[in-house]
Amino acid sequence: MLPEAGSLWLLRLLRDLQLAQFYRPILEELNVTRPEHFDFVRPEDLDGIGMGRPAQRRLAEALKRHRSGLKPKNWVYKILGGFAPEQKEPTPPSERPPCLPEPEGGLKCLIPEGAVCRGELLGSGCFGVVHRGLWTLPSGQTVPVAVKSLRVGPEGPVGTELGDFLREVSVMMNLEHPHVLRLHGLVLGQPLQMVMELAPLGSLHARLTAPAPTSPLPVALLCLFLRQLAGAMAYLGARGLVHRDLATRNLLLASPRTIKVADFGLVRPLGGARGRYVMGGPRPIPYAWCAPESLRQGAFSSASDVWMFGVTLWEMFSRGEEPWAGVPPYLILQKLEKDRARLPRPPLCSRALYALALRCWALHPADRPGFSQLEGLLQEAWPSEGRCVRDVTEPGALKMEPGDSITIIEGSPNSTIWKGQNGRTFKVGSFPASAVMLTDLTGPPAACPAHRGPPAQGEYPPGSIEGNRKKEKLRDLHPARGQRRNVPLHRMKGISKSLESVLSLGARPTGGGSSPPELRQARAVPQGPPVLPPRLPFTSSSSSQPSQPPRERPPWPKREPPHNHPMGVPGATKASVPNGALLPNPELQRKIIEMELSVHGVTHQECQAALRATGGDVESAIRNLKVDQLFHLSSRSRADCRRILEHYQWDLSAASRYVLARH
Ligand code: AMP
Repeated sequence: MLPEAGSLWLLRLLRDLQLAQFYRPILEELNVTRPEHFDFVRPEDLDGIGMGRPAQRRLAEALKRHRSGLKPKNWVYKILGGFAPEQKEPTPPSERPPCLPEPEGGLKCLIPEGAVCRGELLGSGCFGVVHRGLWTLPSGQTVPVAVKSLRVGPEGPVGTELGDFLREVSVMMNLEHPHVLRLHGLVLGQPLQMVMELAPLGSLHARLTAPAPTSPLPVALLCLFLRQLAGAMAYLGARGLVHRDLATRNLLLASPRTIKVADFGLVRPLGGARGRYVMGGPRPIPYAWCAPESLRQGAFSSASDVWMFGVTLWEMFSRGEEPWAGVPPYLILQKLEKDRARLPRPPLCSRALYALALRCWALHPADRPGFSQLEGLLQEAWPSEGRCVRDVTEPGALKMEPGDSITIIEGSPNSTIWKGQNGRTFKVGSFPASAVMLTDLTGPPAACPAHRGPPAQGEYPPGSIEGNRKKEKLRDLHPARGQRRNVPLHRMKGISKSLESVLSLGARPTGGGSSPPELRQARAVPQGPPVLPPRLPFTSSSSSQPSQPPRERPPWPKREPPHNHPMGVPGATKASVPNGALLPNPELQRKIIEMELSVHGVTHQECQAALRATGGDVESAIRNLKVDQLFHLSSRSRADCRRILEHYQWDLSAASRYVLARH
């Protein structure tokens, strides 16, 4: 067993306790690399890696001893008080000069005031201003950084602001993740300054709302960002932290294709057996991003972060629109709880992704997926890519030329009209399905997740989106290269309806069409025949250019008192949420939603019919629908399809891939 540099202490400690077998699980499953990380490890986590309670007690004792043998507190930790981990791993000064940054992980340091010079103002937040800066290392090397300075009033820093600032430092200094903003160190000057990794391209929100000629962000890139975000949030959750302020304004662009979660001022450790943090007193919170339980009880948890993830997704696909704009804070809770209203589906957002957002917005926290699960769900909802095979010039259609790469937002194998984004022009619109050939196939093979889906997390070579777009698109979106490429869409008729989570657009002959999820309400499914919204194949909505002029700061001016929240500003326009009247049979609604979530792309009618056929047994109805889907996909008998599905434990994607491979 080769210990990672920096985690030798752990191996030694475990060896002394004869618990060396837990070294890898602790390092890799619990992500513990420093003694203070154990502050966030719960007994259940240790149970989870198979460590018995007596061994846990021995480990706790040894950790206490290990920590008490460390160097005495420096005054930063005294300032940080009880919240911060008390000690850091001892590092002989000769081995690690206090002000050298470490490329990977490592100790955050105190930085002499003179080593940092501040430049242009990058932005201002709730408790300070952020400047671009240059940090000169003892070696003379300079590092571009961002410097956040604590705002100081006439009588010194305000209590809560100082607390939040120090809390942000103490949280950030323990975090190392490719999609979490890195803290380099702290300047103990007047004012206090945090020296952070520079995200040269600013906040995602600013990028989303940037006016022309800046090109809009492609849908495929937004999906990549979502995946990066889910990974970072899973990492925070595993450390027992809840962010509480997840929004595009707090995601920074470190490169054109890399976001980093930032602004840890509201982060709190999850306490108590219920894994929740309950706010101690009246403090402002970003209403429009908040889960109902946060609005009602001030309760925050990983599940409320998941809710915020859904709102952040919505912001991304709305090009930085303001959620619940114009709806006063007190009405937001009522809309969410009583009316069961949810933010509507943005035009750029596929139904599959919107379905994922709806899951994040489940009323009950326990019904929401976890972040690790979200990473998988995102993979399933990943949009297909195609390539244009002929000029499309029909009036109202999305213009394209042969060779254009097309991201497919909606499209059904049974429909002749599809909706997508042209990777060359960034325009979004409808187009004839026959004009595009798929260059990948959706539907991840369950047995081999790396086979398909988005790229692994990590950095991509920097460069302009424009310049690198084409080759990056191919690299990012076609891990399944070499498989069934260049299949014309019109030849894919009869392909699994499960693909419709990504591809559905037109009405299907079998089901009579599905009402779009945004009209469904989260749990309010209309009874009776579904009503198709009028849909013209080629409408004028083919432009993806943001129709709104760019706005200034988003509506949540951090930590402003609730009564000042601009959500309440009268006369603001977009209160246009669907009216969420509750419908009479909640049990039926619940069943149908469960079915829709289990079998992507099925319609209400199909669900109702399947339920009728099984006397209301959801499980059997879901299975029958899956058999139906596989049956339509292949030339096999229903009995065969059932057997194949049973073999794949009712994983429709895996079964579909199997039959397609033998088509
Ligand atoms: P905050 O106080 O963290 O909300 O930051 C306020 C604003 O400063 C953000 O909205 C960003 O525009 C900018 N900013 C903060 N941190 C950084 C950073 N590390 N790199 C670049 N810009 C930043």
